[in-house]
Amino acid sequence: MTSGRMSRYGAPRRELDAIVESLGEPRYRAAQIHEGLWGLRRPLDDLTNVPKRVREQLAERLPLDLVPVLERRGDHDLTTKWLWQVAGGDQVETVLMRTADRATVCVSSQAGCAMACTFCATGQAGFERHLTAAEIVEQVVRAQHASPQRVGNVVFMGMGEPLANLDEVEPALERLHTDLGLSARHLTVSTVGIVPGIERLTRFPLPVTLAISLHAPDDALRDSLVPLNRRYPIADVLDAARGYVEAKGRRVTFEYACISGVNDHPHQADALAGRLAGFPGGAHVNLIPLNPTAGYRGDAPGAGRIATFADRLTARGITATVRRNRGTDIDAACGQLRTRTAVPVDLRDSSP
Ligand code: SF4
Repeated sequence: MTSGRMSRYGAPRRELDAIVESLGEPRYRAAQIHEGLWGLRRPLDDLTNVPKRVREQLAERLPLDLVPVLERRGDHDLTTKWLWQVAGGDQVETVLMRTADRATVCVSSQAGCAMACTFCATGQAGFERHLTAAEIVEQVVRAQHASPQRVGNVVFMGMGEPLANLDEVEPALERLHTDLGLSARHLTVSTVGIVPGIERLTRFPLPVTLAISLHAPDDALRDSLVPLNRRYPIADVLDAARGYVEAKGRRVTFEYACISGVNDHPHQADALAGRLAGFPGGAHVNLIPLNPTAGYRGDAPGAGRIATFADRLTARGITATVRRNRGTDIDAACGQLRTRTAVPVDLRDSSP
């Protein structure tokens, strides 16, 4: 963890050991606390088998990084979005999506984003700073504290481009895997296509799932939606993605935000299928109806049109699913974080 100061979910195990020892506690105490915070995923205050005095000292020596600003719930309480303040005053968001038996957390990897995708609220607002590994990991843990279901999936699809912050994202992935026990295949890193970042992730030991946000079947259109495409055109991104599949044996998924009249024509589905034909392991496309944002004049196509697009892909051997936009009612869907000044429907103190 490269965070300058030690925090609860940034401190390495040896730091926890040293603090506990300095408090005159027996050796087993550090293991007990580590198991409580990471293995059982409990807030520090809930570890009642640890003396209160020790918990208080630890809370002081290893503070939390995220200060809750507001919490909003939607989707009949199955989706929760938090706005957190991080050191320096920037704000980032985390989304928890629950089903009856499991939970997924969508984390931010940066405050803001420099990629400037035209349809994305985060991109419209610009870049502020990279998040530290500890700040990324804490988003998952804090969401877990609010979820009766076990968090089994983490997707890096919130604010920021994770591959632009690999110095922090890689240690965060390691910690989520090693200390929080999440399997690598249930950790999904999503990118708009930073080719050197994909290559670096290919060398990273954990076989995490890679998702590529494509959004267009041709470079001319993609240039206008994803400015990074001028630097790393589709062919180069697909080459890097092929390298990832070959090295990791993991299927890559492709994200495609459907925008009415822009990238949802049947001939564009055919062109997309053509580009993805023969992709190793088979290409899977997630079609995402565009989420409305204040800074982009574009709409989601109707459900029928997206279904037609999906059918044309399927007919050409490309599997396609239409993603239901969980949390649209609370501005918690992809590309929609930070859309508006949020109005808290439900503000609670969620600090552990
Ligand atoms: S879509 Fe992702 S990469 Fe593009 S501006 Fe938004 S957050 Fe950044």
